[in-house]
Amino acid sequence: MRSFCNVGLLVGLCYAILLSSCAPRLAAAPLVVDPPSTPMPALTSTPPATATVEIPALVEPTFTPASAVCQINRVKAIPVFDQNGLLKSFDTPDKFIVLTIDDGYNNEVLNQMLDILEEHGARATFFLVGTSFGKNIQRDTFQRLVDNGNDIGYHSLTHPDVNIIDGMSQEEWLQDYQDWSDALRAVIGDDLYTRGVTPYVRAPWGRWTPEFMQAARKQGFIPVYWSADEHTFEPNRMPLKPGGILILHIIPENLDELQQLMKTDWQVISLREALGETCN
Ligand SMILES: [Zn+2]
Repeated sequence: MRSFCNVGLLVGLCYAILLSSCAPRLAAAPLVVDPPSTPMPALTSTPPATATVEIPALVEPTFTPASAVCQINRVKAIPVFDQNGLLKSFDTPDKFIVLTIDDGYNNEVLNQMLDILEEHGARATFFLVGTSFGKNIQRDTFQRLVDNGNDIGYHSLTHPDVNIIDGMSQEEWLQDYQDWSDALRAVIGDDLYTRGVTPYVRAPWGRWTPEFMQAARKQGFIPVYWSADEHTFEPNRMPLKPGGILILHIIPENLDELQQLMKTDWQVISLREALGETCN
């Protein structure tokens, strides 16, 4: 009985020492999306000592991350949020711009944009409107969009007018997301949905009401604003800044801006590429 107690004490002591030696490193881990280039190897666990073992085996702490974070592009990107939790841009020493493209009322223009992105090996995040699914955006376009590694993000089911948005409750936003999600899944199926849909969301018209933000927070979404738009390309406008988030729309007029962007030496990436992708 006495030796059994000693074994128990030894195991407990080992645990305490190991935990205390690990704790400062875990606490000091920086909250930045800048994962190591190679995934951290999972620590292996050894079976715990049993009562029949005379000398207690060293019990290692088990720390197996549920998933690794994959960085597709090698950019350093620290997300910058405003006081309301909106993602505005990225702090970075690298010359990249995050490209976001909104709405989706024109299947032909969307395909032309995908042509341009594909030609330059670039990806973007598309904030799409639910009423376009299967109509203005057809399934084969979604297939191509997702196969090329672009993101799909929520931009409401119907893109309601501002006065309607201002009256929407948190529950109505959650229902709207559910309807958007159901409409999309009905067109693209589970596989494309799982591969393409991201937790990035943008309020229609950029109308970020407290109710929208509460609903987004509740779902664990990342609300995304922008720091540059199509006017950035006009003469005497503020130039692009590294780590900026550019908004364009799926309209014929923005094909030219997209071409202009691709002719620059900026690295053009999607939100998923900037924030890192969760992968299994
Ligand atoms: Zn919009």
